[in-house]
Amino acid sequence: MIDRARLAELFERERRNFAERNPRSAAAYENASHLFGRVPMTWMNKKAGGFPLYIHGARGNRVTDIDGHEYIDFALGDTGAMAGHSAAPVVDAVGHRIFEQGGITTMLPTEDAEWVGAELTRRFGMDVWSFSLTATDANRWAIRLARALTGRPKILFHSYCYHGSVDESLIVVGPDGEGMSRPGNVGAPVKVTKTSRVAEFNDLEGLENQLRHGDVAAMLIEPALTNIGIVLPDPGYHEAVRELTRRHGTLLLIDETHTFSAGPGGATKAWGLEPDIVVIGKAIGGGIPSGAYGLSGELAESILARDDLDLVDMGGVGGTLAGSPLSVAAMRATLEKVLTDSAFEVMIETATVFTHGVQRVIDEYRLPWSINQLGARAEYRFATPYPRNGTDAAASADGELEDFLHLYLANRGILLTPFHNMALMCPQTTIADVETHHDVFEQAVRELLGR
Ligand code: PMP
Repeated sequence: MIDRARLAELFERERRNFAERNPRSAAAYENASHLFGRVPMTWMNKKAGGFPLYIHGARGNRVTDIDGHEYIDFALGDTGAMAGHSAAPVVDAVGHRIFEQGGITTMLPTEDAEWVGAELTRRFGMDVWSFSLTATDANRWAIRLARALTGRPKILFHSYCYHGSVDESLIVVGPDGEGMSRPGNVGAPVKVTKTSRVAEFNDLEGLENQLRHGDVAAMLIEPALTNIGIVLPDPGYHEAVRELTRRHGTLLLIDETHTFSAGPGGATKAWGLEPDIVVIGKAIGGGIPSGAYGLSGELAESILARDDLDLVDMGGVGGTLAGSPLSVAAMRATLEKVLTDSAFEVMIETATVFTHGVQRVIDEYRLPWSINQLGARAEYRFATPYPRNGTDAAASADGELEDFLHLYLANRGILLTPFHNMALMCPQTTIADVETHHDVFEQAVRELLGR
């Protein structure tokens, strides 16, 4: 359907435009000789245009670069800035903490922490909470607690999941249906099949085959996969997952870091899920490093009652800067004043308009593509119908087409999340912003099809 020669030609044209539009970013990248891979963090080398855009500033859903362009930002720091960049209440709270009260990190609690814990309980239903600075760390610590609680060694994941740089999670279903290391995994400490099991999303038979071994401490999942497109659960999938995990004595750990977009209490609240542990990171601090895990009161008590576990010092759970006054002040401001229940209503409505507009273009040009929405987030995929599991979603990737679209949009003032075609709405994203995306998206499609 897509003429590859035409795609290659258009892609080259867009790369030339990108280089001409962004001489300062190009020079900054060229000069960055003291950075590993020329970037502050190696993921920033996901660069459809040959070099990354260097940011001058960001506010709300707008980003400006050092060449003086302004962008409508649907990437929002891959969810870290879901509250909008530098949301005023977060800036005020953080400013108050730094300039008025003082005390950025102290290893002593502030009263904001209990407020945040209570609010997370209202939203996600777990009884007690502990904080981290990243979702990765919250997952790591939750995994340790699950192992300690059950005395079992393994963690079960969905194939092509993403839960941060958690060693155990870098596992996929291999051609023989059993787990194997995810291609590209860097420096695995041990063979991943020693620590982990894996099943395809939406595959209950495969899941039960893995749980049946009786060695799985916890199943760590996103309620919908969001890092390989948005792969949604079949009707009844989550009820069955809960029933099977209970039957096999496996704890259910839900990572809401991205699925938080489903509503103020994530997919857990929106879909009535019943996890034993909830993890959330990124967005809850409005961009200031923050994360959390929540436990049922019963699990918390049985862990605290164990005198063989060192939770207070060197036992492997926690981090020096976690729960710092700064991080907790940012979480409070974000949850109390920015990502509120009513903000979600607006964000989800905006994402619905985004989804319908992309679907209209897909239908009108009879593209073999599809789009899925998860609350305030939507993502198009170069396959139809939308894949139902991670392996099929991975197989539908089209790197060249994806890079072309990202670049075409960026050259016309729109940022999508690198790594996928994900668009996230923050409270400031307007219908006009969404319509601007639709116009440019349709223009790209017309050029691709030569119309
Ligand atoms: N969990 C999920 C579902 C994620 O999508 C991510 C990051 N994309 C993480 C955890 C890890 O977040 P961080 O890199 O901030 O630790």
